[in-house]
Amino acid sequence: MTGEHGSDEDISVETQATQLGRDPQRYFGFVNMPVYRGSTVLYPNAESLESHDIPYTYGRPSNPTTRALEEALAKLEGGARTFLAPSGLSAVSTLLLAFAEAGGHILITDSVYFPTRRFAGKVLKRLGVEVEYYDPLIGGGIAALIRPNTKLVFTESPGSQTFEVQDIPAICAAARGRNVPVAIDNTWATPIFFRAFDHGVNISVQAATKYIVGHADALLGAITCDAATAPAVAATHEALGLCVNGEDAFLALRGLRTLPVRLKQHQASALAMAEWLGTRPEVARVLHPALPDCPGHELWKRDFLGSSGLFTIVLKPQPKEAVRRFLNALRLFGMGYSWGGYESLIVPFDCAHSRTATKWQEDGPALRLHIGLEDVSDLKRDLQRGFAALAG
Ligand SMILES: *Cc1c(COP(=O)(O)O)cnc(C)c1O
Repeated sequence: MTGEHGSDEDISVETQATQLGRDPQRYFGFVNMPVYRGSTVLYPNAESLESHDIPYTYGRPSNPTTRALEEALAKLEGGARTFLAPSGLSAVSTLLLAFAEAGGHILITDSVYFPTRRFAGKVLKRLGVEVEYYDPLIGGGIAALIRPNTKLVFTESPGSQTFEVQDIPAICAAARGRNVPVAIDNTWATPIFFRAFDHGVNISVQAATKYIVGHADALLGAITCDAATAPAVAATHEALGLCVNGEDAFLALRGLRTLPVRLKQHQASALAMAEWLGTRPEVARVLHPALPDCPGHELWKRDFLGSSGLFTIVLKPQPKEAVRRFLNALRLFGMGYSWGGYESLIVPFDCAHSRTATKWQEDGPALRLHIGLEDVSDLKRDLQRGFAALAG
């Protein structure tokens, strides 16, 4: 990672992460932004109550702490405006709702995070939106699926279970020609490793719960828009009454300070683990965008500035009981959902039944690993314990 992204007067992202969203002299010199809480905001006089000419008018839309985070994320992503949501999923659903209309058509990658698919199936369909899934590796071929009533193309690159890297520039070029906005779930790479707006994306969503908060202690989502898409998202976001409290925004601002250095370590450790796992006889396949066996690896090399800590291994076919023994023998890898914190995690998954446009072809059990900030040799020893138990 070079950090030379050319944004914000050519200050590197490492430096930006330490600077954005704070203004010590406004807060008596304290380095960090204070946590604001509150609903009512008092207007100074009747005239301002009529004109709303004060920076904050009510606690729901924003307070100084949440706005500092919005402004920091907008700059870091390189977008025009960021809207916060109480979880990554609510950021995704708000964004989809902003473009949903009866009779409209929305294209979603088949590799999408399952709860995004569930929202589309349970809510968008009921509103009369036609949702169509496409092959994540479709690239410029998306042009053939875009119709006059297409309202949005939704991408997730790489897919957060199966890790197909999408040809985002080709998808954006096809959509731009038809005036259709493209959104990305950019949670895996964050703006540190994928500069979504530089590649033509209009909206970048973060489950900030993951790397931005970074410590598994808060849930948060962020939708960053370019100038053209911001009004639609602003209207839906406001109408839904979404709000984020100052404490969680503070935790995200704190996470931001160390995001680039944490990601460098996640990158190095995950690569070391993925390469080592590739040499294990029990492992059939490693799906890590920075390794050649991953679908779309060449696109990752072309478009991304780094790789984060999340990847998948497919074991050679094993009985379920052997996989249970493997998991139960682990002491450092926790079993649990979410990721992006300092701790290593592992979860088995089976996505065969959640795909509709493509097929998941692997025979063996799949395990998704998040490599945290522990020492790599300790993590290898932990998995060795698991492999020993797997053998029985
Ligand atoms: C976790 C995750 C989300 C949802 O985030 P929450 O904060 O858990 O709601 C969305 N997209 C991806 C890719 C995720 O991994």
